[in-house]
Amino acid sequence: MNDKKNSLKTYKITVTGIVQGVGFRPFIYRLSQKHKLKGSVTNTTEGVLIYINASDKSTLHSFISDIRTKKPPASFIEEINSEEVPHRDLKRFKIEKSRETKEKFQLISPDIATCSKCIEDLNNKEDNRRYYYPFTNCTNCGPRFTIIKKMPYDRPNTTMHKFTLCQDCSEEFGSPINRRFHAQPNACKKCGPQLILTDKSGKKINTGNPIIRAAEFLNEGMIVAVKSLGGFQIACDATSDSVVSELRKRKKRPVKPFAVMIKNIESIKKYCNLDKKEIESLTSSRAPIVLLRKKPGNNTISRYVSLYNRYEGVMLPYTPVHHLLFNHIDIPLVMTSGNISEEPIAAENREAYDRLGNICDYFLIHNRDIYSRYDDSVIKIFNDKEMIIRRARGYSPYPVKLGKDIGKHIILAVGAHEKNTFCFMIKNYGIVSQHIGDLDDMESLEFLNSTFNNYRRLFNIGRINLVAYDKHPGYASTKFAKKLNLKRKIRVQHHKAHIASVMAENNINDNIIGFAWDGTGYGDDKKIWGSETFITGNGIDYKRVAHLTEKIIPGGAATIKNPYRMAITYMYYLWTGRKKGKEEFKDYIYSIYPFYKKIISELEINTIEKQITTGFNSVETTSMGRFFDAVSSILDLTHSASFEGEAAIHLEMTAASNEKSKYDIKINNIDSEYVIDDLYIFEQVIRDIHDGKDKGMISARFHNTLADVVLNISRAIRETHDINKVALSGGVFQNNYLLDKCFSILKNYNFNVYSNFKVPVNDGGISLGQAYIAALKILSSKKGELKTCV
Ligand code: ZN
Ligand code: ZN
Ligand code: FE
Repeated sequence: MNDKKNSLKTYKITVTGIVQGVGFRPFIYRLSQKHKLKGSVTNTTEGVLIYINASDKSTLHSFISDIRTKKPPASFIEEINSEEVPHRDLKRFKIEKSRETKEKFQLISPDIATCSKCIEDLNNKEDNRRYYYPFTNCTNCGPRFTIIKKMPYDRPNTTMHKFTLCQDCSEEFGSPINRRFHAQPNACKKCGPQLILTDKSGKKINTGNPIIRAAEFLNEGMIVAVKSLGGFQIACDATSDSVVSELRKRKKRPVKPFAVMIKNIESIKKYCNLDKKEIESLTSSRAPIVLLRKKPGNNTISRYVSLYNRYEGVMLPYTPVHHLLFNHIDIPLVMTSGNISEEPIAAENREAYDRLGNICDYFLIHNRDIYSRYDDSVIKIFNDKEMIIRRARGYSPYPVKLGKDIGKHIILAVGAHEKNTFCFMIKNYGIVSQHIGDLDDMESLEFLNSTFNNYRRLFNIGRINLVAYDKHPGYASTKFAKKLNLKRKIRVQHHKAHIASVMAENNINDNIIGFAWDGTGYGDDKKIWGSETFITGNGIDYKRVAHLTEKIIPGGAATIKNPYRMAITYMYYLWTGRKKGKEEFKDYIYSIYPFYKKIISELEINTIEKQITTGFNSVETTSMGRFFDAVSSILDLTHSASFEGEAAIHLEMTAASNEKSKYDIKINNIDSEYVIDDLYIFEQVIRDIHDGKDKGMISARFHNTLADVVLNISRAIRETHDINKVALSGGVFQNNYLLDKCFSILKNYNFNVYSNFKVPVNDGGISLGQAYIAALKILSSKKGELKTCV
């Protein structure tokens, strides 16, 4: 006995990554049985800590190799470290209680879509207390980040604390061989949360089964609020024109596409084209909304769901409630966030009745609280990879791993005003918050504030060393940062942050040409930028090398909301360039574009004219987004935008996919900057309109021309600066047609092309870029001499 003991060595193994709340300890327990090892496993605030006694290193290595290859589906291993420690006498393999350690930073699992075994449980009638129980979950699935109040991830620290486990659930919870061993949200009909159906006043509908009754209501064309993982969703029949248009009316959302939830992959195939990667994403434990190409000629889904958009945002059921509803529903359902326009998603029951009472006829609610709001994430597959458009449930707060480690420093970056996210940079992680939204109202600011505090608590963030924010003085995020009263601050120019976000997630450390094309960003010269090309080597200093011609944006915000005003502006610049005779500008507009008579009054045209000539209440801009707006309006597509980017999206969706031709371009070299002559392109668009060319062709030509602009500028810079890497970022590159063209055309010319995949290419990625620039600043500064401004 003693001999045997002496020949055994004790090894300490630490596993970091997403290893809590995903069935890791029972997995290790089962693995120890297989390898016939004695030892222990425990959760610490750092990760999972394992001790084993093994006779030799090869036993240790095969154990570790099994950890890597057989890990639970929802886990993610960052690192496994092992070392020999003084011998311990270990009697058997034990799962020990969680404990807190000094080092407190640890990754937390996002929420996980219901697993296949739990779906079986839902539908298994025989001797099963989870038959039709809508809160069924196990260690491989269920709510996580949405219910955690503090670490470690144990039931008392979640919103499940108020439900006491029944005898049966408790036994499962304590049994290492059970799928529900230490499944913190474990519950059953007897002991867990309950679902009820109410009318919009909150009055309970008496029914044998609320789910079946709700499914009936949905089949009858009612609009039903469903309390889901990260907040309320609004569901209705996606195949009925009248139901969907009624929802649009009630939700005050005339155009922006709705997501749909469809029963299974087979059904999705009826409506959309699907490839292998798209199926992988749809069926993954993250269960995002995936943008899929609509099948031509299929009219089953109402056209009001996504109107002229060529893509349908589709997701599969991901909670037991969804799965059970679809047992009784065969049609696709609209499944959209429970909010009004851009406000945050509603999460509390009372709040839902207040805010959604005018939208929804019935409410399917329950008594498990949502601690953290999460919208559904939106992705698309681009070049065989997931590209994130809205990062929330299932993805956040999963960190972006960086090629740089900032050691003991902690950086906060507060992001942009629209599509806000914030980012904590800790060690070599960029922890980007879930999509917060546009910071225009109290609800959004409150959401930002509570999410910020929640992250601070969950990631044990004490002192923040440095805060980064946008240069725009009017951004609510900038004001938020200033209120924190931190000594060390960095102001980061918006478009530089866009490019830095690409460098961060792609670990680019050498010279790069960065195109940051978007709608609006506050420039170094206090003008509104939006078509900037930079070159940078170190990621800190950026040289602006190209942009559109500066022009007035008359009345600022009024023009951003109303693309027709930008079209009139472009027309005005053209008209003054070649004005002949006594014709007035307004008569000129009305005579060549009669449709503007219905859209813009004489008075407004005159005002715009005055604003351009005097600069009153107007700033100069180089915005690419506004260029798209002008073209969209002059083609009589979108004249007023009900959401950001609407006019540009309409223009993209109009483009003929097989059109190869493009317009001529003129790029002038002024003061060693390339200035793109957009009026010259606009003029050719107008000529095409006069020649009666098809809108699809004109739109395609416009897009092809901009890809050509990217190529030409890139080639010119490669000539002079010998840089071969190109980064594309900013909201304009959410345009799939343009992004695709740019990637292929640049690759044809042997450029290495990068964009955002892990964070949104739109302003949702700004916080990562800000944090990255701040990190580079810290790393490049010697102790104590950190400057406070970029
Ligand atoms: Zn499960
Ligand atoms: Zn129970
Ligand atoms: Fe932007």
